[in-house]
Amino acid sequence: MTDTDLDMTCPHCSHHMDCATCVAADMPVFPGAISLCVRCANASIVTDEMTLRAPTPLELVGLNSLPEVRLAQAMLRDISLNNNPGRNN
Ligand SMILES: [Zn+2]
Repeated sequence: MTDTDLDMTCPHCSHHMDCATCVAADMPVFPGAISLCVRCANASIVTDEMTLRAPTPLELVGLNSLPEVRLAQAMLRDISLNNNPGRNN
């Protein structure tokens, strides 16, 4: 896996991320890629400026139809709950 140094903020929870890993291929993160926040597990889209934006409602429908995305989100939420027992997201 290739880690990419970034300076991104999750548009859902404001969590700051300083790196990302592309799990589908050994390549750097690229504009248009789907990003999952390690804190809140919500999906974002990498912009041309290498920032993150919330998906549009139509994009969200598409993302929610991908079993890989739902599985990864469930795993991140499980990890988050195990590390922060009082947290609900
Ligand atoms: Zn987040």
